[in-house]
Amino acid sequence: MAFDSLASYYEDSTRGQKLGGAKRMWEEEMGRGYSSVGKIHVCERCIRDEGLQRFIKRDRKPGTCTFCQREVRVSAMDSVIEHVMNSLSLEWGDPANEGLPYETREGGWQGDVYNTWELFYDVGPNCPEEITDTIVGAIHDTGWCRRDPYTLPVDRTLVYGWQKFSQFIIHTARFVFYKAVNSSYEGDQHDEMNPVDILEALGRIVRDLGLIDTVPAGEKIYRVRIVNQDEVKTLAKDLGPPPAERANMPNRMSPVGIPMFYGAFDLDTAIRETYDPCGEAGKKAASGEFSAVRALRVVDLSESFFIPSLFDPKLQKLRPYYRFMRDFITDFTKPIERSDRAHAEYVPTQVVTEYFRHVYRTEEGAQIDGIIYPSSKTGQKAIVIFADSLACIDVEGAAEQRTLLRLDRAVDVSLEGYAAGTDHEIFRP
Ligand SMILES: [Zn+2]
Repeated sequence: MAFDSLASYYEDSTRGQKLGGAKRMWEEEMGRGYSSVGKIHVCERCIRDEGLQRFIKRDRKPGTCTFCQREVRVSAMDSVIEHVMNSLSLEWGDPANEGLPYETREGGWQGDVYNTWELFYDVGPNCPEEITDTIVGAIHDTGWCRRDPYTLPVDRTLVYGWQKFSQFIIHTARFVFYKAVNSSYEGDQHDEMNPVDILEALGRIVRDLGLIDTVPAGEKIYRVRIVNQDEVKTLAKDLGPPPAERANMPNRMSPVGIPMFYGAFDLDTAIRETYDPCGEAGKKAASGEFSAVRALRVVDLSESFFIPSLFDPKLQKLRPYYRFMRDFITDFTKPIERSDRAHAEYVPTQVVTEYFRHVYRTEEGAQIDGIIYPSSKTGQKAIVIFADSLACIDVEGAAEQRTLLRLDRAVDVSLEGYAAGTDHEIFRP
């Protein structure tokens, strides 16, 4: 019996009393968009989809799995279906409710609409056929379209906000951007963000995605200087960052005049981040093996940003922010050719660095000591630490409040074997 004829059957007042319970159930099912499948249970192993497995881990009780017959901890299929519906509805909706126009003469919905099978094929959950059949069979198929089809998705709003912010501080107002009028921003567009707000948004996303990390005290961090063969560099003042008055090159995170400690957790990355094989023939790498004198609080941007499953109960609502971070970090670490233009091109990353260094506080109210980022040369972790030369001491030096790093060992490394590459970006004092 089709749903509309069922409806008129239940609407019949003479049967109203007797079928009260059934009618209520039917109304409930119509409202939530799926029907109960009764006493079907499923275990974590049978469901396969990782996001749904995480849901089952939270929800399960002892029972028998309908699919593998094992007596294990299982979830009622009805609650799995409910979770699937709730998850899908974060990003997908009924075209009639999402305001998609319907034109009979133009062939129906004016936009991309999928049936439940198509949607499952594209976005999951990825389950064995028998289970997919059960879930899809229970869902009342009214068609699916993207939620808010005429609004920019959150991750795109953030990406455009970051791009507009970068353009604004490179080309329009660099030092007073927080109060300058940005004529490219239309405040009345609900899906457009004021580019100035990107810094605070980044701070929140870094917190929500758990990107605040700790470099433990004692962790080895390498810093390299490229010097002539006859130069001897063994002291922290030579192998650490230069004094402020000699910080005369713009870097990705620091402008001229503001020295920072650029290092890596392995010597090879430290050398490749520093050495330009094209212009420095016949030199050697003077490397300093430093260690953190206390735990350093850092923003870790070196993670691979896999987009979590739409069905992951813990992370599903953070998907737009993972998408944004993936694009943001690609931009944040993109190679910039060393030229006079680098002064301008580095400004956005320098401003983000200053924001995390001077403005941002962790939930415990602590300040950030540095940023970890993926090396474009080796893919390993590189780090910038907010340490000037006074924050680095020699091995026998006494640590003070401002001390962050101790030089444990100085070693010269031959640069033979570090052949010329095509990438010209380097970090140096
Ligand atoms: Zn099973």
